[in-house]
Amino acid sequence: MSRVYNFSAGPAVLPEEVLKEAADEMLDYKGTGMSVMEMSHRSKAYDTIIKEAEADLRELMNIPDNYKVLFLQGGASQQFAMIPMNLMKNKVADYIVTGQWAKKAFQEASIYGKANKIASSEDETFSYIPDCSDLPVSEDADYVYICENNTIYGTKFHTLPNTKGKTLVSDVSSCFLSEPVDVTKYGIIYGGVQKNIGPAGVVIVIIREDLITEDTLPGTPTMLKYKTHADNDSLYNTPPAYGIYICGKVFKWIKKQGGLEAMKEHNEKKAAILYNFLDESKLFKGTVRKEDRSLMNVPFVTGDADLDAKFVKEAKEAGFENLKGHRTVGGMRASIYNAMPIEGVEKLVEFMKKFEAENC
Ligand SMILES: *Cc1c(COP(=O)(O)O)cnc(C)c1O
Repeated sequence: MSRVYNFSAGPAVLPEEVLKEAADEMLDYKGTGMSVMEMSHRSKAYDTIIKEAEADLRELMNIPDNYKVLFLQGGASQQFAMIPMNLMKNKVADYIVTGQWAKKAFQEASIYGKANKIASSEDETFSYIPDCSDLPVSEDADYVYICENNTIYGTKFHTLPNTKGKTLVSDVSSCFLSEPVDVTKYGIIYGGVQKNIGPAGVVIVIIREDLITEDTLPGTPTMLKYKTHADNDSLYNTPPAYGIYICGKVFKWIKKQGGLEAMKEHNEKKAAILYNFLDESKLFKGTVRKEDRSLMNVPFVTGDADLDAKFVKEAKEAGFENLKGHRTVGGMRASIYNAMPIEGVEKLVEFMKKFEAENC
């Protein structure tokens, strides 16, 4: 068996320990004689799995009692519709557009009401986070929406926007559990888990209880009402059962590493190795304004598309996978999520130095 260093933006690297445990339990989960994939989501064994997953997540993120944790499907993209359908009571919402995912969410919300783009960084290909300290937040906005870590462009909100009292909704798909957060600052925090937590197919929504109401937009399907899932503890219908089981294992793995403070320290260390090299390299350059850099997704370029392609190819041959930048931006991107070991980044930088010496 040989494992590569996988720098994919998502689905992405998972902790090896978790994968091994899942392999050990594949045929017979704790004496049940069956795989978690094969068991009823209403069984006693599964009830323990989903309840423990929620309890561990609550502990890790210090989630207050007046927030519900929902395990849903449809990916982060389905939330682009679900959020306005459930929250747009006045049919007005403000969006801060810092990348493709925020833009898609903004466009989707426009189907249901008046979505206002109150700030954007599109003028400089989303390479920075706009100043959000005094934005023209709409008087009647039902919420203000952000994508907190921009997976494609490698920027992160290091300060949350001043929403002037309006509910903050945040897509944290690519920075979920990468560092501590203050849940009370948000109405909704949500993310697809396939970036930093588990296998594709699960989206976790952490939502303040007062935002869960019957009063959704007319025509909202039962499955797209937060209330449906909240009232049934995420078991209204069959949940993505196996995916939730793996997420639960990752939560336990993070707890064992020392929780979100430890994750932050680990992620800062890893990111610094790569950013420090980019800042001194003669060949490679980071593409993001320094103060807005993400700890999770690190885009970089040589400035020459052919050389970029050569780098990606040679890196792959050396065991560094998925370093090609997003198809809309080109260049390279190293995603260095929680489960990427520090050696992975150290070895990548060694390889980049070698490539630079050979090509500069
Ligand atoms: C990947 C990603 C999405 C889309 O997720 P899906 O689960 O594929 O719908 C949305 N937002 C962010 C920030 C992402 O990184």
